[in-house]
Amino acid sequence: MWNSSAYMELAEQNVLHTYNRFPVVLKKGEGVYLEDVDGKKYLDFGAGIAVFALGYGNKAYNDALKSQIDKIIHTSNLYYNVPLAEAAEKLVQKSGMSKVFFTNSGTEAIEGAIKAARKYAYNKDGRTDHEIIAMNHSFHGRSVGALSVTGNAHYQEPFKPLMGGVRFADFNDLESVKAQVTDRTCAIILETVQGEGGIYPAKPEFLQGVKNLCEEKDILLILDEIQCGMGRTGSYFAWQQYGVAPDIMTCAKALGCGVPVGAFVLNEKTAKASLVPGDHGTTYGGNPLACAAVSKVFDLFEEKKIIEHVRELTPYLEQKLDGLVEKYDCLTARRGMGFMQGLVVAGRPVSEIVKKALDNGLIVISAGADVIRFVPPLIITRENIDEMAAKLEQVLS
Ligand SMILES: *Cc1c(COP(=O)(O)O)cnc(C)c1O
Repeated sequence: MWNSSAYMELAEQNVLHTYNRFPVVLKKGEGVYLEDVDGKKYLDFGAGIAVFALGYGNKAYNDALKSQIDKIIHTSNLYYNVPLAEAAEKLVQKSGMSKVFFTNSGTEAIEGAIKAARKYAYNKDGRTDHEIIAMNHSFHGRSVGALSVTGNAHYQEPFKPLMGGVRFADFNDLESVKAQVTDRTCAIILETVQGEGGIYPAKPEFLQGVKNLCEEKDILLILDEIQCGMGRTGSYFAWQQYGVAPDIMTCAKALGCGVPVGAFVLNEKTAKASLVPGDHGTTYGGNPLACAAVSKVFDLFEEKKIIEHVRELTPYLEQKLDGLVEKYDCLTARRGMGFMQGLVVAGRPVSEIVKKALDNGLIVISAGADVIRFVPPLIITRENIDEMAAKLEQVLS
């Protein structure tokens, strides 16, 4: 068997260089630990960017996928399939929303949400110049549509012109949102908890204010729950803790716990008056393998009481992180909800801390310019949190 540098060299020879990857070749995982090809172990507080909620090597999950592989992997959307029906029912039930469209990624879920919102508005007034209000420092994906609503000039600049009709407002600033509303506004899109931008939870009065504004003007509220959804904040979807329901919600990341799958979910009002046959499609979206994963994820969340576990352990995680903020001058604040937490770093590059943590056997991710992000598998224990804090302390001191 080769060592890690041989694999890294081979990958760099052939894979388009769009990522500055850490010099680690991961091989396998068990629970909340990963192992690289050299046999080094890592405590994983990144979960493949908030994906592997159930941890690695969950037998029931793996068996469900294996069994589906032996039945059928793909059928196309010209026909029904069993896991599709089951997964959609569970997602509808847990969200209290009305209709699901499965995609292959988060970005595609955003694309679908944008199309559904535009179609809804088009059905209403027949205009073709509708606008969407998005937030500064947001992240919604890298395709042209999703990038157009991503409030990050650096990501957007080389790829202009992007999709038109997008206006940006400041997250958690209701007046700035109101200032962007016109008679053409069809939707307001935001992450309930901003992830890539630096772990900023929406303020309750902001989210409620945006909701009120949307209701008043029949503007659709699109909540991007791709990162903060699926139990991460201590409820299936973060908005459920705010009591503010979206018209359209996007999901992905932990929805399939490792199998690529996303979804956009519509409430009844939007489902009844937006996309119809011919308006939207996908070859793979809703395929039996991905849906078998989604379906099993919901079952395991219930069986293992994942949401309750997140709620129970959140105060402990927060207390540990707050302790680090108190102890180290380079950490100035903690922000977050549930198992989606960030520590703000000052006077030291975050990348250096993340890299040193990795060397020390701890995986954490950066977010925004100055935040260490913690998005562990949702099955972490108190001991895992202690170990994380100890490993991070070794890096910080
Ligand atoms: C990751 C992410 C996306 C994009 O999802 P992909 O599966 O990478 O396409 C969109 N929105 C948010 C909030 C995300 O965290």
